[in-house]
Amino acid sequence: MKQAIPPDPGTVELSPAEMIRYNRHVRLSQIGREGQRKLKAASALIVGLGGLGSPISMYLAAAGVGRIGLVDGDVVDASNLQRQIVHGESVIGMPKVKSAAARLRELNPYIVVEPYYVPLTCDNAPDLLASYDVVMDGLDNFGARCILNEAAVSLGKPYVYGSVAYFEGQVSVFGVRDGPCYRCLLPAPPPDLAPGEAAPGIFSVLPGTIGTLQANEALKLLLGIGELLVGQLLVYDALDMTFDLITLPRRPDCPVCGDRSTTAGPDENTQP
Ligand SMILES: [Zn+2]
Repeated sequence: MKQAIPPDPGTVELSPAEMIRYNRHVRLSQIGREGQRKLKAASALIVGLGGLGSPISMYLAAAGVGRIGLVDGDVVDASNLQRQIVHGESVIGMPKVKSAAARLRELNPYIVVEPYYVPLTCDNAPDLLASYDVVMDGLDNFGARCILNEAAVSLGKPYVYGSVAYFEGQVSVFGVRDGPCYRCLLPAPPPDLAPGEAAPGIFSVLPGTIGTLQANEALKLLLGIGELLVGQLLVYDALDMTFDLITLPRRPDCPVCGDRSTTAGPDENTQP
C-alpha cells in the first residue's frame, strides 16, 4: 500500500548545502530533488527515545525529515547505553529528549527538532500527535502503545509500530485506512508481559535492526514509494536469523478500529 504524506512540498526548497548533503538521495530516481523536498516538508513524532527511538531518530534526521518531535519523560540511565545509542556516557541523568535533540541537531542542522519532556498520556497524546505526518513507536509496554494507537487511529495518523524483547522483534504499519491497528494485533495485554513484570532482557543490536526497519517504512510512507507493511507483521528472530511475514488483517471486532468502536477511523487526508 502506498501513501504520500505530505503530497505537495509546496514552496519548500533545498539550499545548495542541502543538495550536497542529500546528494546520494537525490541521485535515486525514486527520490530525486522532488522527494527530498517532500522529506524536508514532512514531520515525524517519535514517542520513546530508547533502543528503538535511537536509530529511528538518527536515520530520520540524517535523511532530512524537516521537523522531528521527540516525546519521552525519562532520563538517561547507565543501563540504557548497551542499546540506546543516541545517548552517551556524558548525558547520564539528562532527559532523553534533551540528549537526543542535541545529537540530532549535531547530525543535521538543517532540520527542526522539537523535544517534549513528558510521558505520553491519554490527555496529552492527541495534542502531541496532531501536527505531525507520521508517528513512530519507540515504546516498551502495552499500556503506552494503547494510548499511542488510539490517538493515532482517532486522528487518522499512520503509526509505525516496532517492539523488541529478548532476541525477537516485530514491525508493522498501523493507522492506515482499511489496515489494522495495534489492538487488532493485541486485543488484550500479552500474558508474558503483564503490568508489573520485570523488564525482559534485550539483545543489544536487536532494537537497532527493528528501529532501522521502522525508519525505512516511515521514509517510504513520507515519500510515497515502495510497499508498506500494512496488513502485515514482520517478525524477526535474531538468533535464528529469520524474517517471517505474517498476514495481519483488520479485525471487525477490534476495540479501537473495529466496526463498533467509538474511535473514529483514519479519514481521507491520509490517502494519496
Ligand atoms: Zn484495530
